Amino acid sequence: MQNHITPNFSFAPIIPERASGSRVWDTEGREYVDLAGGIAVNALGHCHPKLVQALHEQSQKLWHISNIYTTRQAQELAAKLVNHTFADKVFFCNSGAEANEAALKLARKYGRDRSDGSKTEIIACTNSFHGRTLFTVSVGGQPKYSKDFAPLPEGITHVPFNDTAALEAAVSERTCAVIIEPIQGESGILPADPAYLEAARRLCDRHGALLIFDEVQTGMGRTGKLFACEHSGVVPDILSSAKALGCGFPIGAILTTDAVAPTFSPGTHGSTFGGNPLACAVASAAFDIINAPGTLAHAETQGGKLRTALERLGRETGVFKQVRGMGLLIGCVMADAYGNRAGELVSQALKDGLMVLSAGANVVRFAPSLLLSDEDLHEGIRRLKTAVQHWLQAV
Ligand code: PLP
Repeated sequence: MQNHITPNFSFAPIIPERASGSRVWDTEGREYVDLAGGIAVNALGHCHPKLVQALHEQSQKLWHISNIYTTRQAQELAAKLVNHTFADKVFFCNSGAEANEAALKLARKYGRDRSDGSKTEIIACTNSFHGRTLFTVSVGGQPKYSKDFAPLPEGITHVPFNDTAALEAAVSERTCAVIIEPIQGESGILPADPAYLEAARRLCDRHGALLIFDEVQTGMGRTGKLFACEHSGVVPDILSSAKALGCGFPIGAILTTDAVAPTFSPGTHGSTFGGNPLACAVASAAFDIINAPGTLAHAETQGGKLRTALERLGRETGVFKQVRGMGLLIGCVMADAYGNRAGELVSQALKDGLMVLSAGANVVRFAPSLLLSDEDLHEGIRRLKTAVQHWLQAV
């Protein structure tokens, strides 16, 4: 097929055509087990009947009306998010980057409103990933994503992840926000220490700064809780969500408190599509299923099984030296002999009928459906074993 898309993507050599649950079929009719979940998006697998129904029903009522009006669907979804989290208010947008952009703008204005204009510094972690807008690539701690787009926004300081002393040295009265991923996703599935998150909370409180948790990848049940920060008990001032929030229908959101939300007065920030009734109807149906205790417990159980199977495979084949993560967000670190070759194994897996991801160059990542069945899990592992054997024969 001729490619008419700009060359900033390097597409895999298959074309997916349809999918159901954790299985995908390509245009040649080949079937794949999907343990990638559309990069941690398809939390309820593909074409979940309740989401199809919600989309279908809403598509016959109201697609879009603009933020001149609110809708029942947006208010219902916001109420669910508020009733099950620390938050009092929600802002809707369309993606993870937009959610973080909103969070960072909210924090900047919050700091400016409470200072002579000097409380604007944002503290972020090295190797973090927060999206692809100019502000979010600048806040993200991976210069490879920002360096080509200079001049970049100013007032951003990066500190090493999980280093409490470095964070303590960096946060000051000039800080308006500290932004952290509770598990660094794109850079290799690295969980934050609970003590690090606690220290961040303490430092923000001490200096009147806002704590932002980027839960775009870790949120919506992926780690066995609705949001990953619940494992540590640390409560942020702003939390960003996207990816699994709409389970494949584009939607993002920030959750915040009544103390912070009024910083956004009418006209200060907005989005044409944010909170549109189609997206909110699907996300609302998804929320009910994800937030059910059975789903969260299943994610935890299946995560444990997948992790155990991956550890065994790593031991038997010698390709992985560590398996880490939480719930169904798992990263397998390549053994030293195969350092930075995760992408090769991911490509081989696809040839053997398995969709998995890399996270950085050295980690193979798994972010499957939270509803993953035993059958799909075992078949996925069987195909991964085959892929490892094929790959080892070739290297
Ligand atoms: N934040 C985190 C932690 C992410 O993992 C991602 C995407 O991978 C983003 C933000 C950006 O989300 P989006 O691609 O929807 O803009």
